[in-house]
Amino acid sequence: MKIIAIGRNYQEHAKELNNPIPTEPVVFLKPDTALLKEGKAFYHPDFSNDIHYEVELIIKIGKEGKHITTKFARNYIEAIGLGIDFTARDLQQKCKEKGLPWEIAKAFDHSAPIGEFIPLNEIPDLKAIQFSLKQNQIVVQNGNSADMIFAFEEIISYVSQRFTLKKGDLIFTGTPAGVGKINIGDLLEGYISDRKMLSVPVK
Ligand code: ZN
Repeated sequence: MKIIAIGRNYQEHAKELNNPIPTEPVVFLKPDTALLKEGKAFYHPDFSNDIHYEVELIIKIGKEGKHITTKFARNYIEAIGLGIDFTARDLQQKCKEKGLPWEIAKAFDHSAPIGEFIPLNEIPDLKAIQFSLKQNQIVVQNGNSADMIFAFEEIISYVSQRFTLKKGDLIFTGTPAGVGKINIGDLLEGYISDRKMLSVPVK
């Protein structure tokens, strides 16, 4: 399986990092070794002093497809979940300054914790999914799929023109504003509405 991620998909988050609002999706990949399954601890690596949480809605792909149109994109969604796109912001900043790719800042081991998934048929409206992240019981990020610059269907269409999507692939769909640094000892907990989907202790 592969993990595809979309950057700068919420206006307020693009602004907080002084990035321009994109006119087409910003796409990057993480390898399968980036996955961290629900309930497992994240061990803070020593190559970064500024790893940020980015809570994101995740599309789980239900069947293989390419050149998918927005009209049919929904048929390829098996479930929606919640995850964190851990980002070594200090390394990313250096890469950006040099115009280099971001992978060392985004694709390291366990940089993609995932929680539970909700089957598509249990989601009443893809354009109104409220989600949030707590860091040590305090809400630090609040998002709603209504505020995505590129909706789920547009992302699936855009990505599948380039990469064949396969069953089990995951697409991280971007983070809302409020990203921040994690510290050893933190507990990160993600919610879709009031339902707890994800919990990641940082060790
Ligand atoms: Zn992200």
